[in-house]
Amino acid sequence: MRLCSTLNRGLSVSFAEAVRRGIPGDGGLFIPASIPLCSAGFLRGVGGLSFPEIAFEVARILLDGEMPETDLRNVVEGAITFDAPLRRLDDTTAVLELFHGPTLAFKDFGARFMARVMSYARRDGDEGYTVLVATSGDTGSAVASAFQGIPGVSVVLLYPSGRVSQIQESQLTTFTGNVTALEIAGTFDDCQRLVKSAFADRELDARRRLTSANSINIARLLPQTFYYFNAFARLGERDRGVVFSVPSGNLGNLTAGLIAWKMGLPVVRFVAALNANDVVGRYFSSGVYTPGSAVTTLSNAMDVGDPGNLPRIRALFDDDIEAMRRAVFTASVSDDETRGAIAEVFRKYGYVLDPHGAVGYRALARYRALAGGSFAGIVLETAHPAKFIDVYDTPVRESITVPERLQVLLGGKKNSVQLPAGFRELKAFLMES
Ligand SMILES: *Cc1c(COP(=O)(O)O)cnc(C)c1O
Repeated sequence: MRLCSTLNRGLSVSFAEAVRRGIPGDGGLFIPASIPLCSAGFLRGVGGLSFPEIAFEVARILLDGEMPETDLRNVVEGAITFDAPLRRLDDTTAVLELFHGPTLAFKDFGARFMARVMSYARRDGDEGYTVLVATSGDTGSAVASAFQGIPGVSVVLLYPSGRVSQIQESQLTTFTGNVTALEIAGTFDDCQRLVKSAFADRELDARRRLTSANSINIARLLPQTFYYFNAFARLGERDRGVVFSVPSGNLGNLTAGLIAWKMGLPVVRFVAALNANDVVGRYFSSGVYTPGSAVTTLSNAMDVGDPGNLPRIRALFDDDIEAMRRAVFTASVSDDETRGAIAEVFRKYGYVLDPHGAVGYRALARYRALAGGSFAGIVLETAHPAKFIDVYDTPVRESITVPERLQVLLGGKKNSVQLPAGFRELKAFLMES
């Protein structure tokens, strides 16, 4: 796979280089210069393959010769150690559970794959490096968990003191070993600003060899194609056509789905399920992109006012808004509708959706009402409901089983270093530790 920039289609770098650099440096983002097609034989036989087999095959098609096959197999098998099962709700709707990884959200797929690819891409360099991440929620714990214990790497997380949920704080601060959590007396924006300043500081970079591991890294997108193929494989009868409803914030998950579709996965349509943060919906209806500032909702991982992956989607469609509309339907769902969807799914099926999956469910219902048809609707369930236990009332709350790996964390000892929101203090800390 060769990669170009969304702003410079003539650029051509290897996958390993794109992963190392993170961004092309021209203000754009790395995207595949062309997307390889999977074979008809692969699609016909995919129902007979396990998820790890599908993951490896899709990776092999995408990365085509970028890594020797045994190394690629090690990367994929080391990263994807948990399932992405499809649960049927009824004849027309199923839920694709993406929360079976170590930190209970789909971010584990991307973070774990990226960690292994980065180690691989740097295997010849003997020096260690530091992964520096600002986090307001799921990303930090997924990245820390993914890089935990990798030799030569240290992870430093910055999170805003008092502004993450108790469960999130437990997930961020109970790591040991090569992970350090910095509790910053400020906001998430302060944390992001500090990280940016750190990357711009030569002395600091020379001392710590900083790496950004952020969500815009191409290595986080590719493994997210695997589970779209797996969902298709697990459907059983596949003649009706599939519609994926994707709870969306920064649009990474949707971008991965669109890449899978461009590889040949037969998808009728994608639903970009949005909460009140509807900049993408407004862009699709008007053709004019106007970023905004995010408002807070129940599905907080989707509270994004300027989705980072939109330039990638536009580039995949050569900026043809009509083609984007044919492939993607957008729906904006309010918090009241989200609560309504949680209650409805619990009443009808005894199944508990997390608030993000609930947005996906409601958005799919809206598409079905408009489009009709007998397609198989698949809602991506992006996080485990136990991560959002405060959202639920009885009796839904009582029916949620908190997974053991979360329970263990909640009892763990908080390990964090408190720092003011100043760069001088952050730099001093990073230079000395
Ligand atoms: C990050 C996240 C999302 C949004 O995914 P994008 O790829 O940023 O669109 C949705 N749900 C959960 C639980 C998340 O953590």
